Amino acid sequence: MSERSFAKEPGASGALEEGLARWAALRERDRFHDECGVFGVHGHAEAAHLTYLGLYALQHRGQESCGIASSSGGEHTLHRAMGLVADNFSDKVLRGLQGRHAIGHVRYSTAGGSHLRNAQPFCASIDEGPVALAHNGNLVNAQAIRRELEGRGSILTSTSDSEVIVHLLARSRERTPEDRLIDALSRVKGAYSLLMLTDDALVAARDVYGFRPLVLGRLGKAWVLSSETCALDLIGAEYVRDVEPGEVVVIRRGRLRSLWPFPSAPRGAFCVFEHIYFARPDSNLAGHNVYLFRKELGRVLAREHPVAADMVVPVLDSGNAAALGYAEESGIPYETALIRNQYVKRTFIEPSQSVRDFRVKVKHNASRGLFEGKRVVLVEDSIVRGTTLLKLVGLIRSAGAREVHVRVSSPPNTGPCHYGIDTPTREELIAHRHSVEEIRAILGCDTLGYLSLAGLRRTAEQLKHGICDACFSDEYPIPAEYRGEIPQLSLFRPVVEIVGEDTDPSD
Ligand code: SF4
Repeated sequence: MSERSFAKEPGASGALEEGLARWAALRERDRFHDECGVFGVHGHAEAAHLTYLGLYALQHRGQESCGIASSSGGEHTLHRAMGLVADNFSDKVLRGLQGRHAIGHVRYSTAGGSHLRNAQPFCASIDEGPVALAHNGNLVNAQAIRRELEGRGSILTSTSDSEVIVHLLARSRERTPEDRLIDALSRVKGAYSLLMLTDDALVAARDVYGFRPLVLGRLGKAWVLSSETCALDLIGAEYVRDVEPGEVVVIRRGRLRSLWPFPSAPRGAFCVFEHIYFARPDSNLAGHNVYLFRKELGRVLAREHPVAADMVVPVLDSGNAAALGYAEESGIPYETALIRNQYVKRTFIEPSQSVRDFRVKVKHNASRGLFEGKRVVLVEDSIVRGTTLLKLVGLIRSAGAREVHVRVSSPPNTGPCHYGIDTPTREELIAHRHSVEEIRAILGCDTLGYLSLAGLRRTAEQLKHGICDACFSDEYPIPAEYRGEIPQLSLFRPVVEIVGEDTDPSD
């Protein structure tokens, strides 16, 4: 098929292309979003470069801002910027981040929270020297502590929940940075997987429930900490183990000490959405490969909701592994009949008419004819608002499909997250307002089948720790202690001079 004939041809495939462009734009809004990723290196001559690579691998956990702080023993150097890791760290910037220890952070934000002052790591100065912190998670009692701190004279200029950790740390009367951190963390409730860089130590801490992941690795004699194992793989580091829920790891002069300063949680609460959607499929989290877990969910889904069909089609890329599992279990052929085209996505948001016209010339004919007269099982990992699937079902029908059966490899999303994931309000979640049959009617599909909560829980028994599934079950491990909007998008603010922040990466 030539570009020209494709551009001129009207009908179902043209509608498919146009719709896919809209789908790409809508899709970002119709997802849960992870808030952050953290990465740290202790004891390597190229600590900042390795951290840069680590953040590169964790970019899916946050694309709004990024930052690296390094320690050369006496002082910290920090570079933070808005945007992607690859666009903001030139050789010159990385050479300026000197020292054998470094931590880094990538952050996601929704509209309104998009400010450099919210980028991490956050640097502060305490009696024992400089500290930098990078945090993934959300605190549920931050507002109460914030009011208390302000009542005692602290000036908090951001709306950050994480900022309270720094103020608590600075006010602590403990004598070492790690003891100050433990003192501060003993006051907070909620989710944290965080890294703290001092002049000579790298400290890692994970909340007692273990909501967010944090893994420990080794690269030669250097120690590495990361949100996910995919970042260890990129730099050639060996996975050692997970930082356990409630554990504080202190690495100083190459030696690792493990502390258990907090009372145990009544149960583990590892975010099961990490395995369903957030984490990269090539990561191993909570003792299990993410891709294989998703595939298993697809198998369970096929057993719970079988249907006679001609093809199983994933919603790219989130439904890939579950669709493969569904296809293998059901014996129905797997087809990547919907192909996302990045050029279509880009041109769709360009304002210029000449560029928009390019959209119709973009090749998008891989699925031409595939849907005609077919019974399709469309597999997605979750439904948030339903806008994406609404479009896709319409597209597939307009491309000639006889039947469209939607299968979802997680239970209905009925509640928001309080533990570090950006979610819509409860009212915006389609499964909160509608029954499965009503959602089916809204989407316009022939049948709709969600994975059951029991099926999800049975599959998750293979994970090392207990899971949080509160956004499906409404069983929140820790009650939220705030009213109104979740203040989880504003993070640390700098309180010491930042070196290199204004450096132009293109230098
Ligand atoms: Fe993960 Fe949902 Fe629990 Fe939040 S509420 S931690 S998204 S499982």
